[in-house]
Amino acid sequence: ESQLNPNYSFENFLEGDANRLARNAGLAVANKPGGTSFNPLLIFGGVGLGKTHLAHAIGVDIKDKYPEKTVLYISAEKFTQQYIDSVKKNNRNDFIHFYQIIDVLIIDDVQFLSGKSGTQDVFFHIFNHLHQNGKQVILTSDKAPVDMQDIEQRLLSRFKWGLSAELQSPDFETRVSILKNKLYRDGVEMEDDIIEYVAKHIKTNVRELEGAIISLIAQSSFNKKEITINLAKEIVEKFVKNTKREVSIDYIQKVVSDYFQMDVSTLQSKTRKRHIVQARQLAMFFAKKYTKASLASIGSQIGKRDHATVLHACKTVDNLSSTDKQFRKYVEDLSKKLSL
Ligand code: ADP
Ligand code: MG
Repeated sequence: ESQLNPNYSFENFLEGDANRLARNAGLAVANKPGGTSFNPLLIFGGVGLGKTHLAHAIGVDIKDKYPEKTVLYISAEKFTQQYIDSVKKNNRNDFIHFYQIIDVLIIDDVQFLSGKSGTQDVFFHIFNHLHQNGKQVILTSDKAPVDMQDIEQRLLSRFKWGLSAELQSPDFETRVSILKNKLYRDGVEMEDDIIEYVAKHIKTNVRELEGAIISLIAQSSFNKKEITINLAKEIVEKFVKNTKREVSIDYIQKVVSDYFQMDVSTLQSKTRKRHIVQARQLAMFFAKKYTKASLASIGSQIGKRDHATVLHACKTVDNLSSTDKQFRKYVEDLSKKLSL
């Protein structure tokens, strides 16, 4: 009924530099739900870095320490669906009331609320009620609050009230520990050099790291092959091939500059000349579209601009491509050049 997964525990969430702040903040919240300044606790980071796992771990630990507290885990997507249903069935107030009496509310992937103003509005009221009554709110998101788009300002400001803690890609040592812990729990033995080979080559996503080990075990047992370094190489290659399909911001700047026959340094310069500004805005737009970089990071790489400038660039490109035929042609040509 609380929707918590007991396997997603703190014990199974291995600590490293990349997650220390978030993990410890989570532990602090679990010890004193609603009683720390980490309210809300917002955990953010890229795909497969452990946001859902950590969010569950906090809930599981609270349930353990405070069995009388009501803890609810729900994805923002499901929350939105429930809200829409409640409106259709004319029981919006019941929906709100249900959420206002929870002690610990965990909402996963709040970026899903982007552009959904009705759900944002209802969540704003639920949030305020819980916060005022000393209840704990835990949120996860794929972006930091400053990089979230189409979320109302008043809600964003609430997100920033507590602590925003980032999960980054774990270092090599942590990746090895994660794999060893998983193998141990599954009762599978594997040579250290094979584990290290996998951990060395799959760096940015823990889900893929585990996925590679799972395929390795499956391949060896279905084909009755021994788990060797060569088999590990084969599998790792497939994983890396499938995921290394992201263009870099440098590459985007190069392609856009070439297209407009200017140097990258011109594109990055401070000039306000219209065609250069447009080239720069297009580079920002494609960096947002084709990479996972944050607005802040795109801005700093394309001529040391801030995140607001990048956001403005993305909106300008959207607007111009629907009103200006010539500009739309630029976008189409560049999309073709940049598509892999
Ligand atoms: P996200 O929600 O950020 O996309 P998940 O929480 O679904 O990521 O994590 C993906 C997988 O990686 C899960 O199986 C999770 O248990 C595992 N994982 C992530 N970080 C860690 C960690 N620090 N220790 C152990 N397992 C981890
Ligand atoms: Mg998740």
